Amino acid sequence: MTPGINAQDGFLTSHVLEAVDVPEPELIAEFLGSPDDIIECPTPAQRLVFGPTRRRIPEIWDVDNPAQVGVVQNQDSYAQGVAAQRPFYFDHIRPIARQVLDEYYQLTGRRYDFIEGYRLEDADYVIAGMGSMVENAEAAADYLRETRGLKVGVLNVTFYRPFPGPEIVAALLGKKGVAVLERVDQPLAEDLPLVREIRAALDKAVENGRVAAGRKAGTYQLPYPEYPVIRSLKQRPPVYSGSYGMGSRDLQPEQLIGAVENMLPDGPQRRLFYLGIDFVDEDTPYESRRKLQEQLLRDYPHLAELSIKGSENPNLLPEGAVAVRMHSIGGWGAITTGLNLTSTIYDLLGVHVKANPKYGSEKKGQPTAFYAAFAPERIRVNCELRTVDVVMSPDPNVFKHSNPLAGLKEGGVFIWQSSETDPQRVWESIPPFAQREIKRKGYKIWYLDAFKIAREEATNPDLQLRMQGNVFQGAFFRASPLLEKHGLDRETLFEAIHTQLQRKFGRKGAQVVEDNLRIVKRGFEEVHQLDPSAFEITQPDGRRQTRPLPLFAQPSPDTQTPLTAGDRFWDQTALYYANGQGSDVPADPFIAHSVIPAATSVFRDMTSIRLEYPEFILENCTGCAKCWTACPDMAIPGLVVRIRDLLAKAVDRIPHNGAPPRMAELIDELESRCRALLKEADKKDSALEYHGMAGIVELAFNDIVAGIDDPAQVQALRAELPAVKQVLEDFPVAITQPFFSLPERRNEGDGALLAITVNPEACKGCMECVEVCPDNALRAAPQTEEAVARLRRGWEIWEEMPDTPPEYIKIANLDEGIGTLSSMLLTKRNYLSMKPGDGACMGCGEKTAIHLFIAAVHALMIPRVEQHVEYLNDLISRLDQEIRNEEARLRSPADPAVLGQRLGA
Ligand code: SF4
Ligand code: SF4
Repeated sequence: MTPGINAQDGFLTSHVLEAVDVPEPELIAEFLGSPDDIIECPTPAQRLVFGPTRRRIPEIWDVDNPAQVGVVQNQDSYAQGVAAQRPFYFDHIRPIARQVLDEYYQLTGRRYDFIEGYRLEDADYVIAGMGSMVENAEAAADYLRETRGLKVGVLNVTFYRPFPGPEIVAALLGKKGVAVLERVDQPLAEDLPLVREIRAALDKAVENGRVAAGRKAGTYQLPYPEYPVIRSLKQRPPVYSGSYGMGSRDLQPEQLIGAVENMLPDGPQRRLFYLGIDFVDEDTPYESRRKLQEQLLRDYPHLAELSIKGSENPNLLPEGAVAVRMHSIGGWGAITTGLNLTSTIYDLLGVHVKANPKYGSEKKGQPTAFYAAFAPERIRVNCELRTVDVVMSPDPNVFKHSNPLAGLKEGGVFIWQSSETDPQRVWESIPPFAQREIKRKGYKIWYLDAFKIAREEATNPDLQLRMQGNVFQGAFFRASPLLEKHGLDRETLFEAIHTQLQRKFGRKGAQVVEDNLRIVKRGFEEVHQLDPSAFEITQPDGRRQTRPLPLFAQPSPDTQTPLTAGDRFWDQTALYYANGQGSDVPADPFIAHSVIPAATSVFRDMTSIRLEYPEFILENCTGCAKCWTACPDMAIPGLVVRIRDLLAKAVDRIPHNGAPPRMAELIDELESRCRALLKEADKKDSALEYHGMAGIVELAFNDIVAGIDDPAQVQALRAELPAVKQVLEDFPVAITQPFFSLPERRNEGDGALLAITVNPEACKGCMECVEVCPDNALRAAPQTEEAVARLRRGWEIWEEMPDTPPEYIKIANLDEGIGTLSSMLLTKRNYLSMKPGDGACMGCGEKTAIHLFIAAVHALMIPRVEQHVEYLNDLISRLDQEIRNEEARLRSPADPAVLGQRLGA
């Protein structure tokens, strides 16, 4: 009859995995009944409207009893309709809700109420809230009682409507303080919603107290008879209002402790505060942020007081718990792996479990995390686990964007995906700050190549990622302390896993079960332990470096306001994200606008989320354009380069001390000899094989210096050659028909080379380009430090190279050329008309389509816009000139007409 909402707070209650006893569906069906059950009308108003009985869910649209429903009501009837709802319907809700709670208790033995209290009776201080924070608060209350002797209790408001005012007042009477925590902020309201209601309820009890003051019981009528009577203001607790967890932000124990510490006699006693948000980052390593803060604190001196921090962030998991954190990449099946592991452990050990992924929409290709805890008693902590016993990282690049060892307990276990087989190399791939930490805290380091195992075992490439997760499951059981703790041996473990797999995959056949078991076993067998004491710290320790402005960061569009200035955004905000501290960006006047300056997605660097990169095999490239047209991330542009421009760039990069490189004088000759060699190499069945310009230049160079008699000059020239070759190796170019053979044949000197260059900051490693390349000119290569360094050098050169000359873009003949759209994309401006660096999934086809559309519009419209601007500028300058001429003419006394005018005036 009256609509109701069963609300859950976002994320945690929807994503947590834990064992719960759910009443049998039949029992719930019995309790709820069927919509077409005929029931007795429970209220006089309903009996008037429906008669003595009605359908459980009344049929409003009924052809036998036609009526208009939900019509627009004007003032003549609307007000009465609204007012009538209170006495005839809403006022019945409270007793009916009470009756329903009692019936549910009778049926299931489970007692629910309008509010629930935890250690409230003797509590001095109360944390009040709703939803998933309540369990956290209970654990924090126990901790504060045990460690500090503070009597803290928790009020769980389970009903918001009807608001349980009388019950709440009764629970809070006489408390020294109540901190009401809400996942919301309402800046212009008198209070946040729950605080508002609680204050209103307390106020009613105070009004009762005023009426009752000095009067004998029975001689007066209370204005709010169902509410308690507050006779002395001492009984009315001070109310503190805290905003936390907005947008499903994590709530750490530290924040709950801060909320209690705030209420203590020696606490700051702030009536309104934020938890988990900083307005001032006192330790900010970023200069620009420091300056902004100084300015803000001058104008808003109270800023730092807006947020409250607890004095500690204790681990509130039960005694004997094992906490695990997993670092992975969106799309690699981290959630499935985490959930499978949790289910296996629950089935195997029968312990209490709780697991959840890090909040945030899991983006394919972006770093993500998963948390799980296993304990002998109920786990009440609902948050990201900061203190853990085991860290697993299927992500081999984890150290490049996070610190996976953060919060790992002394002697903890770290299991890492590594393709290295030599322990020394594994150790060297750990950054020095982490090596130091490993030694200092006695971490146990395990490594395995789960990708290799998955590749070898997966019958279908799509299964590889899931398989990798299963491999890690096996590794976890070998490396973590769990088996030992529970006295389980290898056989029992695999027997249990076999039973679980049988239950899960049995329907798919014995082979599937055996395949999965074999993979888990391989993970168990093939994970190796590293002995950190056998190795030295590889380099002096140091703080993590602040990332410089990315190579690809094009100047932002001209902007007049700081709000939309890209460089400000980079310095004050994006740097936090670039260094893995996105949640730590302080609240400032810019972030309040939720404005992201245009094109700043280029600040993102995808290097650490890629395992493989597309390697260009220039010998095979035909210039078909498929790669640069298909790439969704604008990460592999084609660029046509004139031989002379390429040589000039290579020579330009020769290190020199002011004087121009000697090789500069040879450029003309180098170009003509290189061209001749390229033409030779381009011939069918030529003995000269083309493997890149470095080889061609070396041949041409040797020819030239053979004709120079002065050995000193030859030696000086030869000293410059390696630098030239390095550029040509870093920036590979191909001989292709559309850009070299055909133009050169048509007109000698017109042949140019095609560069296919990967932007290492933009490429997400989706391998779409590899897939579409029909000539095997691109292949997926494992990413190494050296490969990344080479890609970065190559991209720097791409940025410095002149744009594709226009004559290579207007390819009208499709038999010779590559198609108009692909051809348009050869222009840097068109190719980069859409900026990379977004959070879309790897290989996103929609983005390819949008890129092509934007590039086409850009290619067609920008020249017109430029033309029009030129036309307007010309008009303006001519008008300006006319005005000046006229002004000069008017000023000239020689003009008799003007003179006459002036005299007349
Ligand atoms: S791997 Fe994917 S993102 Fe990288 S260049 Fe190729 S298509 Fe573009
Ligand atoms: S690399 Fe492959 S897809 Fe790209 S232009 Fe060359 S042949 Fe075509």
